[in-house]
This record gives sequence, C-alpha cells and structure tokens, in this order.
Amino acid sequence: MKTFAYQRATSLDDAVQAVSADPDTLYLAGGTNLVDLMKLQVRRPRALVDITHLPLDHLTHRADGGAVIGATATNAVVAGDPDIRKNFPVLSEAILAGASGQLRNSATMAGNLLQKTRCAYFQDITKPCNKRAPGSGCPARTGAHRDLGILGVSSSCIATQPSDMAVALSICDAIVHIRGVAGKRTVGLQDFYVPPGKTPDQDNVLRHGDLITDIELPALPVGAVSRYHKVRDRWSYAFAVVSAAAAVVLRDDGRIAQARIAWGGVAPRPWRASIAEAELLGHKPSPQLFERAMRAELQHATPLPHNAFKVDLVADVTAALLEDLIRSAQERKTR
Ligand code: SF4
Repeated sequence: MKTFAYQRATSLDDAVQAVSADPDTLYLAGGTNLVDLMKLQVRRPRALVDITHLPLDHLTHRADGGAVIGATATNAVVAGDPDIRKNFPVLSEAILAGASGQLRNSATMAGNLLQKTRCAYFQDITKPCNKRAPGSGCPARTGAHRDLGILGVSSSCIATQPSDMAVALSICDAIVHIRGVAGKRTVGLQDFYVPPGKTPDQDNVLRHGDLITDIELPALPVGAVSRYHKVRDRWSYAFAVVSAAAAVVLRDDGRIAQARIAWGGVAPRPWRASIAEAELLGHKPSPQLFERAMRAELQHATPLPHNAFKVDLVADVTAALLEDLIRSAQERKTR
C-alpha cells in the first residue's frame, strides 16, 4: 500500500475544506471498501481525512413514519433498529443480506452507497478498465461479464453497482443530503448515480470534496408491505447475482394500488423498474400479470452471452417476491 497522510477532522467544515482543497485527499469512515482498494493500488490517496468522530451517526424517526439516518451510522445499527425493521423492513433485510456481521459493524450508510463496482478488471491494475483508467477500454465485454450489467449499461462500461442497501433505498424514494464547499443540496436516490455513458469513471453526482451528511427516508405509503430478495452464489455472504426490492399496497377490492420495484446486480445503479410498476397498477395480482410486467421492463435489456441468464432470473425472483408481498398484504387486510 502506498504511504498516506492521516488527519482527523474536527468539524464538518474542516473536513469539507480539507478534502476539497486537494484532489488526492479522500474521506475515511468505515474504510471497508476504500482500504481494500488502497491495498490493491486501485485508489492511491495522498491523504485521508477521518470523519468517524463527527456528529454524523444519528438515526432519527419522524412522527409520520419517515426517518433521517446520518452518513456514518453503521449498517449494523440501522439494520437492527426496531423502528427501521418495523417501518422499512426492506431496508433492514437488504442491509442484512449484504456483507458479513463484522463488515456491517464498521461499514457506514454513506460508504455503502459509495462502494465501487466489484468488476474484476476494475480491481486489477494490470488490466485496462475505462472506469479506473478512462479511455483504456472495457475488457469485460468480451471477457468475464457473468456478474455484470444487462440494463442501463454503455459500450464503455457494463459494471454493476454492488450495494444491496441502495436497491432498498431506491424503493423508499430516499433523499441524499450533501454538503460541499458551495453549500448544502439534496439529490433523490434515483438521480444520485449517473449512467456510465462515455465517462464511466464518474459513478455519481458527487463532486470532489462533497460529503454525504444524511439519508432521508420519507414514510412508505400507508398499508405498504416491503421486502428484499437476493440471489447469490453462496449463502454466507456474496454480492448479488440479481436482487429485487419491492413494496406493494393493495386496494380494498384486491387490486394493486401502488407498486414499487427496484433491482440489484443488473445495472450501474439500483434499477427502478418503473415500466413494470406501471403495468401492475389497478390490476388483480396474478402470475400472468407479473410475467407481463417483468417482460415489459426487460424488453430494454442488453445482455451479453455470459449474463443473459439474468433476464429470466430477475423476472422470476421478482415474481416470487411480488407473490410473497401480495400474500402478506392480503393477510394484513383480513386481520
Ligand atoms: Fe472497467 Fe466497467 Fe469494463 Fe468492468 S465493465 S472493465 S469496470 S469499464
């Protein structure tokens, strides 16, 4: 690992100023992804600014059922929080489906959102990779792409965003609060990640020095049931081959009043399946309806030979998840 300087921030302003002033200085919180990438020489910062002692680890529940989570609240604390489990079960399940218990004890909410793709070429500095070294090429397209994307990818990059948590936050319509040298701003999670296009080195809307301070969760709709399903190569812990988060509200006549669906493991960002959501609205739930909705969304998929299986897999996982949720919503109505 390259030698680096270490500085402990004394305030939010201090942290933002220190990182903004130097393109080779980065924030350090849980470090569970950053330190791995430093060992691999993928990231080679001159200095790290430690923000773990700043007052950013809050978890506040609002009277309306929403919540505000600080950037450095750990994944373990959030997943185990009784009100998160009650009001946002999809978020708790997604976090628990990611990483190991040890990692969740260190990993932070903002760090989880910002983790880098696990594309093997990105992590190997002896290989070309447009995301790590712009303009060098994308060997994954003709090489190892079994785990990579089928939706929203570009000819420059087909990497996937690896965060389970971000998939759940997507259906919660989460809002990311950001602080930079120019002041504060907010970005909806759907707009937080940017499509790879010709500049896949840019993962998200953050400018250098921007600091995520909070993740805001508006309350889910009244009567919503939500859950997260993940398919992975081993049960203990692994990144998603595909995953699905969904929330459903049923009308009194049993038809679908609201549906939110997001996918992981298939795109450079949590893939909000808005076409499928629209197909479901106002209809009686049935396997045929779910199949039609999934196919409508997946008509835009651009799979490659070794990840084409994801098209059927994500459709099947989501249909099973929706069946689960409909059953739960029906039981809730009869209680
Ligand atoms: Fe790099 Fe993206 Fe291609 Fe992977 S898919 S090699 S991250 S450019």
